Amino acid sequence: MNTSITGKTALITGSTSGIGLGIAKALAEKGANIVMNGFGDKDQIEKTRQEIASFGVEVLYSGADMTKPEEITAMVKEAEEKFSNIDILVNNAGIQFVSPVEDFPPEKWDAIIAINMSSSFHTIRNVLPKMKESGWGRIINLVSAHGLVASPFKSAYVTAKHGMVGMTKTIALETAEDNITVNAICPGYVWTDLVEGQVKDTAKARGITEDEVINDVLLKAQWTKKFVTTEQLGEIASFLCSDAAQNITGASIPVDGGWTAA
Ligand code: NAD
Repeated sequence: MNTSITGKTALITGSTSGIGLGIAKALAEKGANIVMNGFGDKDQIEKTRQEIASFGVEVLYSGADMTKPEEITAMVKEAEEKFSNIDILVNNAGIQFVSPVEDFPPEKWDAIIAINMSSSFHTIRNVLPKMKESGWGRIINLVSAHGLVASPFKSAYVTAKHGMVGMTKTIALETAEDNITVNAICPGYVWTDLVEGQVKDTAKARGITEDEVINDVLLKAQWTKKFVTTEQLGEIASFLCSDAAQNITGASIPVDGGWTAA
């Protein structure tokens, strides 16, 4: 028997742009209703909401701030009131800051730990009761190759992403008999706003040009010499929602052009 995701509900944090939006579109294309979240220009968000809805699904937008546990609880409650329960949770919202550790602003450290790691604890603890009740669930944590290996000047990011690998394994074990899988997708560099933004900062931190950052730092680690695409990540997330992936749980799946194999 093949469980289709048509009519199921997927909440994707940070889905107003980049990877989250790519995953939202891929899941909507396969028939899942979408709870969209993230920041941005109000008109642009509404345009994006309509674009996702054009796949013939319902799309609810929540502007919940992932640094605020009470807003996360309210977002899940609102989504459950509309769709009854969340079947697929994609923890994707994330930010980056690049700096030597001794200059790392403590407020940036706190924000990265809150958004890139703790928000997933809050989404998961809120969705699990109804997900368990429904007897089916998929939790996908958008982690990073930086959940598996480190790079200098990204202490908060690497810490949060390594933490997410641990969270993925632990909750996979806790939910293993509930027909729920919990996995981490660990991409290398994906060309999104987040990467574009850090090119400038990395150039400054390392004292090299922006072109050198792209060719000698970012794609240096990626043996395929190609950026990962948001469409590829959307299809991998869809696969993790399929019946074929039922026994993949607690896994951290590198999508990094060979980076972490070296
Ligand atoms: P992006 O900047 O395009 O998207 C980030 C999303 O998170 C946006 O929708 C933004 O509005 C949202 N967001 C930021 N702060 C938020 C907050 N406080 N509350 C709610 N939403 C918030 O970045 P992206 O590249 O698409 O990154 C998505 C995820 O993928 C992140 O977790 C990132 O660490 C991870 N990742 C990215 C890459 C890459 O190369 N781009 C590689 C590996 C992992």
